[in-house]
Amino acid sequence: MIFEYTLNTAREDFINITAQTGEAITKSTIKEGTALVYCPHTTAGITINENADPDVVRDMLFGLAKTFPPRPEFRHAEGNSAAHLKASAIGSSVTLIIKNGKPLLGTWQGIYFCEFDGPRNRKFFVKMLAG
Ligand code: ZN
Repeated sequence: MIFEYTLNTAREDFINITAQTGEAITKSTIKEGTALVYCPHTTAGITINENADPDVVRDMLFGLAKTFPPRPEFRHAEGNSAAHLKASAIGSSVTLIIKNGKPLLGTWQGIYFCEFDGPRNRKFFVKMLAG
């Protein structure tokens, strides 16, 4: 069972997709197991991080921009190599434990779709894995 969701993103953003992921798990009717949340893009990613203080997302985007700035040495003609680096650093998926039909997340954790080269129309998938 694979669930697909679409997003319209800003230039750079972390979009909280915890609700959509929880909805997919509920629809699957799986009570215990694991779920994969996957992003099929090369300049976007998926991560789990704090969902309480919005300054955490702001600081993560700031830190990634400082760590992976655009560089004149980059050759990729599309001009978005910094976004490709950020996407690989973040990763393209997370695996969740499903307990009692819900993702097992810490109090302060949320699941984020991370855009590094928007605005674009993006998608992500949630795939339940057996038991
Ligand atoms: Zn590119």
